[in-house]
Formats: sequence, C-alpha cells, structure tokens
Amino acid sequence: MSQALQAIRGMNDILPDSAELWEEFEATVRDWLRAYGYKPIRMPLVEPTQLFSRAIGEVTDIVEKEMYSFTDSLNGEQLTLRPEGTASCVRAVIEHNLLYDGPRRLWYMGPMFRHERPQKGRYRQFHQVGVEALGFPGPDVDAEQILMCARLWNDLGFNGGGNDSVRLEINSLGSAEERAAHRAELIAYLEQHQDALDGDARRRLHSNPLRILDSKNPAMQAIVEAAPKLLDFLGDASLKHFDGVQAVLKDAGLPYVINTRLVRGLDYYNLTVFEFITDRLGAQGTVCAGGRYDGLIAQLGGKPAPGCGFAMGIERLLSLWQDLDNHREQSAPDIYLVNQGERAQRYAFQVAEHLRDTGFAVHLHCGGGSFKSQMKKADASGAPLALIVGDDEAAANAVTLKPLRAAQEQQRIPFDQLAESVGDFLFATEEQDGSL
Ligand code: ATP
Ligand code: MG
Repeated sequence: MSQALQAIRGMNDILPDSAELWEEFEATVRDWLRAYGYKPIRMPLVEPTQLFSRAIGEVTDIVEKEMYSFTDSLNGEQLTLRPEGTASCVRAVIEHNLLYDGPRRLWYMGPMFRHERPQKGRYRQFHQVGVEALGFPGPDVDAEQILMCARLWNDLGFNGGGNDSVRLEINSLGSAEERAAHRAELIAYLEQHQDALDGDARRRLHSNPLRILDSKNPAMQAIVEAAPKLLDFLGDASLKHFDGVQAVLKDAGLPYVINTRLVRGLDYYNLTVFEFITDRLGAQGTVCAGGRYDGLIAQLGGKPAPGCGFAMGIERLLSLWQDLDNHREQSAPDIYLVNQGERAQRYAFQVAEHLRDTGFAVHLHCGGGSFKSQMKKADASGAPLALIVGDDEAAANAVTLKPLRAAQEQQRIPFDQLAESVGDFLFATEEQDGSL
C-alpha cells in the first residue's frame, strides 16, 4: 500500500458533524446581514500580489511574512492567495464601478490564507465573514457596524450569562496628518528607550512605529503604556467623528472601552478602529476586528470614496459557539428506506424518488445486507420512520411503514396513498416531539 497523504499543516478539513454547525452559523449570518441591508459579493481567492502589498502595507505582518505568494509558471504573473478580503472587495468595486449610483453595503464569507504558526484559533487557511460599507463618510455607519456585531453575538447566544463574554474596544487613528505628527513624537520617544526595545520594535522604529504600540511582549509593556498617545494628536474633525460613534454606542447601551493602543495590523485604517475580544480563547481572543479606511479606494486607483468594514474569524466564533447548547438538531432524514431483493431494489428507487418529489428527505439504503442489519442502520440514521420494501411489496405495489421511535404497529400502505400516509405520520411525530 502506498503512504496515505495528509492535508497541509494549518489547513483543516471540516468534517460532517462540524460542517453542519458551520452551515447553521452561515444561515444565522445570512439572516443577520439581510436585516442590515448588506448584499453579497464573491471575489476570487487568488489576486495579483501587488494588490495586497499596496493595500495592506509593505511593513505589516501580513505582507512581510504571512502571504502565500507564487509565480504562475504558465505566464509568469505574481499571485497571492488572499490573506484578507477588504483589498479584493475594494478592487472589485473599483473594477466594476459599483459606486456609480451611490454607496454600497457589501459582505462576503470564505477562506483566507496566511502563513502563520498553527495553534488553536490560528490557522493557515481560516475563514472570515467580511462586511464593507463603501461611500459612507459619517460616523453613523461605523456605529451601525459595531452595533450589528453586538446583535450577532446575541443571535448566537453569547453574552447569556453576564455581559462579559465578548467585549468591545475602540480607538481612533485620526487622519494621515495627525498620524504623521504623532509619529514624529513617538519615534523620538522610542529612540530615547532604544535599549529596552525588542527586535521587532527596533525593526519597525522608522518604518511602522505605530505597530510597536500593540506589542504583546511583556517586557515592552511599561514603555508602550507611557508612549505618546495618538488620541492626543487628533484635531476637531477627528474628535467629532469619534464622538459621533460613541454617542450611538451610548444610546444603544453598548459598553465599550477606549484602548489607545489599538492600532490594527493593516496600514489602510484611519479614524474609527474596533475589536471584539473574548478571554475564553487565550491569546487568540480577537473574534472580530475592523474600522474605517477612507483612503483605500483612491489608493487602489478608484475615485476617492470613504469605506468602513470589519472581518470576523469564523473558527474563533465557532469555538465559542460550539460550547453552548442552543444548536438546532443535526439533520436526520425523514425516512430510511430498507429494501431487499433485486426487484424490490428497483421498486425502492421509484418509491424514494416519488417521496422526494413530495418534499420528503429519503435515505435509500444502498449496498444490500440482511433485513436486520438494514434496520439497525435505519435506527442509527435518526429517521423517525422506516419504509420497508421486499419482493412482496414490489409485487403488490405497496410499502410497509414502520415507525422507529414510537411503539406503533407497522402497516402496509398502497403506493398511491404512500405520500399522504407518510405526511400524516411525520406531522403527528413532530407534534409529539413538540417541534411544531
Ligand atoms: P491577530 O492579531 O489574532 O493575528 P489580525 O489582526 O491579524 O489578528 P485581522 O487581519 O484583523 O486579524 O483579521 C480579522 C479576524 O480574523 C481576526 O480578529 C481573527 O478573528 C481572524 N483571524 C486572523 N488571522 C487568523 C488566523 N490565522 N487563523 C484564524 N483566524 C484568524
Ligand atoms: Mg495576524
């Protein structure tokens, strides 16, 4: 036997039991997005490398070391598996002139790729729901995006016991001019503390000093805490925008803290940035992050227009969600169709298709086997009802109906009454189960 192959490290199979939880999550997310007027968009998984280096910034974790980039050997193009969705979404909006008749609310969901060290909550192929509002300049849309996240946490049943399971942090990154003024002072301050900086910080000192502020290195905390705060450099317009966001959050009674060290890992942000964080997932606690990116559309060659968006990590949300017991039942078929004998098998196909025409979910037993072993499979399937077809039934153009959960007698039903009998039976079962 040849050696079995394995998936790439950090890229996971999602097996049937959890895939059903993913589908339930996706359905919840679709309803939630529709409630806020967001429309779906789907972009390719592969884009020109340049799109990400231009949008995300050369001196960021993602572009420096996390991108899966390669040369297309067929035509020499430089390509990258998308590490995030905003750049692709904005590219698509520009390319198809989607803002020609006004602003847009868009969303997408799917895999992202980053070459990181795999650990719980951090994978090389992971999944995000991304939400982008394009063409809205005011703080109203920022605030609405934050509120809508809070609603999703409620829809998922987080925050049930105590209001502390997912908390909100916000900050403002101001304008490019304000960041430049702050940057000069920040660099001067950090230079005074050269000796205490770690390798990452030294490397970033003159390229991306803002990122030093969100260092997780315990040895750097004191220095970073005392560093000049960007918030103190904001002018009236930026402060007004930030106040506008906070006013809506306060009206809604949504608790938040201002974290002046929240800077986000991508260069395109300005003004509002926010993160939702949980303590239940260890170091990988950020489940959702976003903010405003008013310069990005122009930077990628589009007609200048503001933007604001966020992305949430589906794996992290699901690991919070799977521990709750508010999930719908895993899907079982309505009917398990047992059949024995050559003639019966061909008849069973007609029975199954007929019932599916009527709207029932039918698991047709394939692969033969004894009546007893088929009935065991029927029980294990979770279906409330087995239908039994042998050569007798085939000859009589009938089907034997056998309830699997209730202690009821089996009965033989003529083919032309089958759909109705099955319907009556399932309806009665659901009523008994209290699921109606
Ligand atoms: P982190 O600080 O955890 O590396 P990030 O700032 O790189 O996060 P973003 O680019 O803002 O993350 O992505 C938004 C969300 O996507 C994150 O908050 C997280 O929930 C999720 N995410 C990011 N990278 C990964 C990954 N490698 N594996 C799983 N989820 C991820
Ligand atoms: Mg990261």
